[in-house]
Amino acid sequence: MMRTPDYTARDFTVSLPAADYMARFRDAERCAASCRACTNYGRSWACPPFDFDMEEYLAGYATALLIATKITPRHSGLPFAEAGRLLRPERVRHERRLLDLEQRYGGRAFAYVGTCLHCPVGSCTRPQGLPCRHPERVRPSLEACGFDLCRTTEELLGIPLQWSRDGRMPEYLTLVSGFFHNAETIEWKE
Ligand code: SF4
Repeated sequence: MMRTPDYTARDFTVSLPAADYMARFRDAERCAASCRACTNYGRSWACPPFDFDMEEYLAGYATALLIATKITPRHSGLPFAEAGRLLRPERVRHERRLLDLEQRYGGRAFAYVGTCLHCPVGSCTRPQGLPCRHPERVRPSLEACGFDLCRTTEELLGIPLQWSRDGRMPEYLTLVSGFFHNAETIEWKE
């Protein structure tokens, strides 16, 4: 459990065979339709459509490690517009840890969905047709790869996702990422 002046954050993890996770929690068509309806579609290199074959991208890993961080604001009823400020340090922490795991174990990291962290907002090169500035840091989200995160967090981690109501933050925010790998065991340390 981490405590900051603005929120507390607690990590939850689960591991299961990657093939099971794909068979039970992946609906590529439904997720692709949601992505196409998003304003970021085709406007960030972190978002679909991707220039790689998704089935090949996901293949060849034995285990799926899934990580959810439950972020509970210290003060209730904050404007939902504040959510990004609370999420950002936890996203940075997840992404650093995931890239470190890739280096050490050679697996495949999946970042949290949302605006890419690695360039100033609104400055992604994709709308200009230019290459990504930091491809070594950018990873797709589990949603963008077709996974159902509502069911993932609720059924595998016991955390029902909560949504904003009347422009206010819910009781907690949930940040989800993943790591597919072939290592014997991987410990995710808070
Ligand atoms: S690192 Fe920059 S160029 Fe690459 S996807 Fe992110 S915002 Fe776009």
